[in-house]
Amino acid sequence: MLSLDNKIALITGSGRGIGKEIALTFAKAGALPVLCDVREELLQEARTEILQKTGKDSLAFVCDVANANQVEETVKKTLDTKGRIDILVNNAGVTRDQLLVMMSESDWDLVLSINLKSVFLFTKVVAKAMMKQRSGRIVNIASIIGIMGNAGQANYAASKGGVIALTKTTARELGKRGITANAIAPGFIQTAMTDKLKDEIKQELQSQIPLGRLGTPQDVANAALFLASDEAGYISGQVIQVCGGMLT
Ligand code: NAP
Repeated sequence: MLSLDNKIALITGSGRGIGKEIALTFAKAGALPVLCDVREELLQEARTEILQKTGKDSLAFVCDVANANQVEETVKKTLDTKGRIDILVNNAGVTRDQLLVMMSESDWDLVLSINLKSVFLFTKVVAKAMMKQRSGRIVNIASIIGIMGNAGQANYAASKGGVIALTKTTARELGKRGITANAIAPGFIQTAMTDKLKDEIKQELQSQIPLGRLGTPQDVANAALFLASDEAGYISGQVIQVCGGMLT
């Protein structure tokens, strides 16, 4: 059984979906989750659910991950309260799909800011604390779309490809300080993000998945738990695809 006993784990976009499941899974493994999301009500619901299911309290901060001041404030409040951050999961992400020739500059900028710039902002601030600790785990949630591309997702694909490149660079820069950085590239996971897809598109996607089903947030959280654990201490700069075999 993998343990994260007494680890402080900051997870972005953890009000719902994959981020909430990662927070719940980490709490079950003994960690104290630090939740952060844009909507206060989602945060409080997630906090209550984690408490009911695990008996573990968590910290919760409203934070727009694309805003450098709010990111710094969130990390400062966590360090002021708990003194350290052992695990950072950069999970918050959005889609604004449109064919490349129709895509607005504002939708390009929004997706790149929330999906990619946020990973730079959080990693930069948290890495300073982890370097002093001489230990840390950084897990970035990318996507198989960042590896294979996808029609209608130029902004999203570019942001996730960027997350993978940033992860590999982070691993190279911080390895000597005992910090690992890895990415998870999920395939199609059942959350609000994919609920909005039309049924025929979901069926078409499912037909391309050798394991014959869409993934669950728990499938992604299991990989995150492993990468955050002591047992993954010699794995860094890697991308683990959690996609039911869709991309090989
Ligand atoms: P989700 O259900 O939409 O959850 C994402 C969470 O991030 C939401 O709570 C969202 O808040 C929050 N968020 C959005 N913008 C934010 C911001 N500026 N600051 C802080 N929080 C923000 O999506 P999900 O499916 O769990 O996706 C989680 C991650 O997995 C994303 O990075 C996504 O790209 C990646 N991923 C998902 C899939 C999939 O199939 N679902 C596949 C590959 C990769 P709101 O509710 O207010 O929007």
